[in-house]
Amino acid sequence: MRDTVAIIGAGPAGSALACFLQERGYRCIVYSNLKTIDLMVGESLISAVIPHLQRLGIEDEVAQISELKLGAGFRHGDGTRVDFRFPDFGARRPGRAYNIPRPAFDNLLRDHARARGITFVDEQAKLEPGTDGEREVQLSDASLAQAGLTRATQPAWIVDASGRARSVSRLLDIPARRGGRNDAAYFAHFSGFEAPTAFQGQVLLTALDQGWSWQIPLRDCLSVGVVVDAGIARQLGSSPRERLEAAIESSPLLRVEGARRQYLTDVATYANYQLISERGFGPGWVAVGDALGFVDPMLSPGVFMALEAAATLDHMVFRRSRIETAQLQAYYDTMQDWHRAWTTLINYFYNGQLLGMAEQRNNMMREGSANLFGKLAEKMVSGALAGMTTGYKTRSALSQGILRHSCDHMLKDQEVIDARRIRPGVFVGQN
Ligand SMILES: Cc1cc2nc3c(=O)[nH]c(=O)nc-3n(C[C@H](O)[C@H](O)[C@H](O)COP(=O)(O)OP(=O)(O)OC[C@H]3O[C@@H](n4cnc5c(N)ncnc54)[C@H](O)[C@@H]3O)c2cc1C
Repeated sequence: MRDTVAIIGAGPAGSALACFLQERGYRCIVYSNLKTIDLMVGESLISAVIPHLQRLGIEDEVAQISELKLGAGFRHGDGTRVDFRFPDFGARRPGRAYNIPRPAFDNLLRDHARARGITFVDEQAKLEPGTDGEREVQLSDASLAQAGLTRATQPAWIVDASGRARSVSRLLDIPARRGGRNDAAYFAHFSGFEAPTAFQGQVLLTALDQGWSWQIPLRDCLSVGVVVDAGIARQLGSSPRERLEAAIESSPLLRVEGARRQYLTDVATYANYQLISERGFGPGWVAVGDALGFVDPMLSPGVFMALEAAATLDHMVFRRSRIETAQLQAYYDTMQDWHRAWTTLINYFYNGQLLGMAEQRNNMMREGSANLFGKLAEKMVSGALAGMTTGYKTRSALSQGILRHSCDHMLKDQEVIDARRIRPGVFVGQN
């Protein structure tokens, strides 16, 4: 048996990491404060999550509780729309994903880890600064006792998988780099709310004047959420429900599609911001998943990133017989690169270039003005974009280059782009 590792938090990152490390012979103790609620964000997965589900051996079980998702679509209020179908991205990768009931998904992962014999302590872990000069953080005596440990037998490693609680970073006051947006998200599950999907499980994202919305088909309902600038959100009403209602009514598309909507749940509220810790490890500890950093959810990368970070940490760091700073740094650099790649990609959606490109293409097709070169270029751009949104090619230098080049050189009409920009702090009728 190798070292004991304490994992703080049993979300996707924590539970998956426990399974990966147990396979390597580590003894894992997972602290889980079991704060699972009825309604949780993270309902839409991207294709690149499939290899992780397969490695964990849970894809069939996930499929049984989920809606098969074959792609995504992006719309502007003026009707411009671009659809991505995962099976079109190449036969070598699984061309599917799932829309999941998130609390059930997390429970499934936890139960799977428990069934493998991993120890769970269903308590909030308490951390404190290290006192032995060897580790930067340690578990409190009470938390150690809950796991049947003492100071003498304390874990060699603490993995912070506590999500946006960022337990270790907060304790150590580690600064973070924040993204430019500061949004609030409101969402609920509905019946009678339509979504003009082009294929099964298609997630629809719609640009709103004041942000964007999601429509995620689940097995027995539609999840509808809006993400709006936090300052604007306060002007939309005094309760989460009033704010969600106002945002839906402000969109001509959502207003019509939701004309017969019935709420199946209360409205949940989340803060939406982007952040990465300036340091993700230290003596005796390392962070994984949202605890290390989180990206804007527009393209649904969060759960994938949590599983990918767990797999990367396992592969780059814990696989070794002796853990060195260089490996931890390589892991942190890799995750930073992921964050940069997603942020750059998501910006094409926020800054209007993606929908601008779709509009330009539609015009060319309508006018019949696309020559062979134009058609080829358009195929390359769609392929690159599609591969990047699945998560398989997000960090591919070739795909990134194709997208950058086409935005710099093929997109000519600034007005078309500006009209499709999602601006923070602008509400319908205000401007
Ligand atoms: C508005 C919005 C929409 C989103 N939509 C999507 C989407 O469609 N698809 C997607 O993939 N992602 C989405 N995400 C992101 C996704 O939810 C997260 O990225 C993902 O949950 C991260 O997983 P994690 O395991 O790192 O953290 P979490 O899922 O947050 O898990 C951390 C766990 O640790 C527990 N914990 C915290 N502190 C302690 C402690 N001291 N002791 C014990 N336990 C503790 C917490 O209670 C929690 O259970 C969205 C996020 C937002 C804000």
